[in-house]
This record gives sequence, C-alpha cells and structure tokens, in this order.
Amino acid sequence: MMTFTAHASGSGGNFYVVEDQGSTLAIECGIPFSQIKRATKFKVAYLDGCLISHAHGDHACAVKDMIKHGCVHCYASHETWAAIPSVPLGEIAAKRLQADGFDEKGTKIYRRATVGDFRVLPFEVPHDVPGCLGFLVKGPSGDTLLYISDLCYSPYRFADCQILAVECNHSTEILRRNMDKGIVDPDRGLRIAKSHMSLERLLDMLAATDLSGVRAIHLLHLSDCNSNEAEFKDKVTRATGRPVYVAQSRSF
Ligand SMILES: [Zn+2]
Ligand SMILES: [Zn+2]
Repeated sequence: MMTFTAHASGSGGNFYVVEDQGSTLAIECGIPFSQIKRATKFKVAYLDGCLISHAHGDHACAVKDMIKHGCVHCYASHETWAAIPSVPLGEIAAKRLQADGFDEKGTKIYRRATVGDFRVLPFEVPHDVPGCLGFLVKGPSGDTLLYISDLCYSPYRFADCQILAVECNHSTEILRRNMDKGIVDPDRGLRIAKSHMSLERLLDMLAATDLSGVRAIHLLHLSDCNSNEAEFKDKVTRATGRPVYVAQSRSF
C-alpha cells in the first residue's frame, strides 16, 4: 500500500516522500540538504529518485547536493534543467523527462518514465515559469498518487487515484481581504492568484474528479497569510467525504 509523507510544504520549502512496498521516491528537494538527510533518517541514498516540479528554490534548492552527495537521480522537465545552471548539462543523475509532442491545445505530452519501482506520468500545469509539472505516480502495489503543486488551476480531470496531494494555497476571500487591508501588495496578490491554486479552484477540480478510490487527500503549499488551515480542511472534508490532511511547513 502506498503512503505519502509531507516533510516540508509551502513557500519556505517543499519535500515529500512516497513509499510503496519498501520502495521510496522523493518529490521536490526545496529544503537544505542537511534537512533532507534528517527527514529521511539519513537514507537519502536509498531513494529510487526525486521528481522536481519546477526550478523555484522552494522546490529545487538542494538539487545539486542531492545529485552529488546523495547520488539520487533527479527528474525534471527540459525547461527546469535549463533554469538550474548549478547542475551541469550532461550530469548523469540529472534526468530529463521526455515529451513526445503536443496536444491540440499546444500542451506538451510527456512519456511515462520508470523511476525505480515507480511509473511516473508527468504533465504540464500552468504556473509562472515554463515546464512546471504535475505527476501521476503508480507504485509497485498498484496504488496511484496524484501530485500537483504551484499551479493556477488544473487543466485535467483525474480518476483511479488512491492518494491526492494537491496545492491549496489561498482562499480568494482571504487574499482579497488582505489586499484591501494593504497586508498583501495588489500586484503580488494578482501574481499569487494567477500562479497558485485557490481553495475555490481546488474544490471545482475535486468536484470533477472520480474520488471513489481515494483514501487520503493531502493539502499542500498553504500560504502563510492567505490561508486558514482549519477552514480548508473542513471545506475539503465536507465536499469529498475523504480523510484530509494539511501539510505543515516542517514536520520533522
Ligand atoms: Zn512553491
Ligand atoms: Zn513556484
């Protein structure tokens, strides 16, 4: 059975671990490598790999150390590698996820990748940098995880997942209130709304998702000042009837 652990989440750094039948996969490496070692109980070298959604520091700041010291193969889009100059091109552990072509909307279609015992289907999501990816991860038990973070909205519908790990960054209402009060600068507020998933858009996505096999929903990347943990958990629980967990900024 697959499990998902949020060790670090939010704009201060992201690091997640998926375990399934003794195999382990990391998603993101956006905290210092010393903290990744601590979170994994010094078993970084046992990771099957690390999937990186995009190049922002809160998702990728430890990538060079992961490759060098942990010898972990890291997987990201071409655009993400191009934006991380600290990793030399051709570095053997920097794996480029391959796209085969484009769909009718001009979105890249990615090939499935095998990462240890996991099968990974990457897909593009709209964020404020090119090549930002979400992942469908199928583990050796047959369970599937949906992972999406740092996206304005989901362009896709999903089914047959057992675990959803999804960004729930802010609520439109709290963000608007903070902009009115001058707590959040208007330009910054608009940028947040355009590049991060709101509670309202997440609820729309969940309403269009087949939740019949879903065992757990993890809410990720909550904003420090534009979110309300208790309200988000309550609303998503009531809308889905599934167990909901809110990822903390640090949990180790
Ligand atoms: Zn982020
Ligand atoms: Zn980002």
